[in-house]
Amino acid sequence: SGRWAKAMAIVKELEDNCGTPITRLHHVAEAMTVEMHAGLASEGGSNLKMLISYVDNLPSGYEEGLFYALDLGGTNFRVLRVHLGGKEKRVAKQEFREVSIPPHLMTGTSDALFDYIAEALAKFVATEDEGSHPFPGRERELGFTFSFPVKQTSIASGTLIRWTKGFSIEDAIGEDVVGELTKALKRIGLGMRITALVNDTVGTLAGGRYNNSDVIAAVILGTGTNAAYVERANAIPKWHGPPPTSGEMVINMEWGNFMSSHLPLTEYDQALDTESLNPGEQIFEKIISGMYLGEILRRVLQRMAEEAAFFGDTVPPKLKTPFILRTPDMSAMHHDTSSDLDVVGKKLQDILEISSTSLEVRKVIIKLCDIVAIRGARLSAAGILGILKKLERDNVTTSRGQKSVIALDGGLFEHYMKFSASMESTLKELLGEESANNIVIQHSNDGSGIGAALLAASHSSYL
Ligand code: ADP
Ligand code: MG
Repeated sequence: SGRWAKAMAIVKELEDNCGTPITRLHHVAEAMTVEMHAGLASEGGSNLKMLISYVDNLPSGYEEGLFYALDLGGTNFRVLRVHLGGKEKRVAKQEFREVSIPPHLMTGTSDALFDYIAEALAKFVATEDEGSHPFPGRERELGFTFSFPVKQTSIASGTLIRWTKGFSIEDAIGEDVVGELTKALKRIGLGMRITALVNDTVGTLAGGRYNNSDVIAAVILGTGTNAAYVERANAIPKWHGPPPTSGEMVINMEWGNFMSSHLPLTEYDQALDTESLNPGEQIFEKIISGMYLGEILRRVLQRMAEEAAFFGDTVPPKLKTPFILRTPDMSAMHHDTSSDLDVVGKKLQDILEISSTSLEVRKVIIKLCDIVAIRGARLSAAGILGILKKLERDNVTTSRGQKSVIALDGGLFEHYMKFSASMESTLKELLGEESANNIVIQHSNDGSGIGAALLAASHSSYL
């Protein structure tokens, strides 16, 4: 019928506009490399902020003692307690709690958010075992993983540039986030020192390096997306501080804000961006990461319902609700292997209140999941190639056979198998067989928490 043909035309158009042929991906990778150079050359020289992390020494393995970490960067935050046992015992013990952030605190005031976090931290500290307290006369020390763009001013201070991922707390912008947390800790009388402020990518890089000395970069694919890597200090023209003795500096790319004319963008992406809390920003993130993939799919389905009566004569009301279709649900549909696509049917019913869908309709949904997820996966692979190119590790000759390990973390990478499988195979495809042998993707489960604790240890005020 005419309706079906119209619906299929919308699918076809989406497929064309989301296309990521290998030559396009090479252009994206090349553009990433170019922007990396520009962001390192001068402040504001690129969409890529290429933030200096002040981490010029990654964990050695000798770190020792009791350390805390706090990981804030999405819908949940985590508190960790780690007992580091030095070269022999390594991470002797680790405990954590996960706490969800009530949505109203994500758009409220700085004090309200940090008070909530401080209280959760205090509760966790209260569960410390007898015999595992800090040395007498010493305060507890904490590594603070804060996964939003921050202009670091030292290893333990930095001002918030802007919020991403649905956070919007005006009065925190421009403030030192360590100062904000320290004030909240004081208000409730919890004595604790924040000795390291790190991005989650930097934490993941530190945690990854602790386990494997070949780790040179970290990528997060979760609610948002970002990457960090180890740069030569003399390749950072905008760094005017003292040259680090290691000769190296970890750079937080803030690659979620990458933008290039080579990115395959659609009308759905444009509308999503315009209606977002941060229009014009985080364009790469908005086509790749977990916060947005389900929402892109919802927008396509809404158009198909409106213009092609894809779900019948009326547009299902729920389908008009932004962000109602979450990426984990999209992923569950995408991985449906049942012959009737029961999971797809059930998700459409439960989330969108669309009943009795035909198998044909369900198959189209799978196709849409594939188009949207695979575009994101292939673009993240191109981003990684961009980093490898910058470091001249993308080909066998220039890398002189060195292994390069990239630590990957985040709920999207961990749980969306079709996404991670496509990302890894695309990276191989881009590198070619010979070079691909020297590049390893290593899943670094919660490296960022441990990494922050390790950096708190190596920057302890009691050393
Ligand atoms: P954050 O990025 O908020 O620090 P995570 O790394 O745990 O936290 O990632 C959480 C994100 O991962 C969710 O917002 C969601 O988009 C994505 N995610 C979680 N589970 C799944 C899943 N089963 N399939 C696809 N994506 C998922
Ligand atoms: Mg995280």
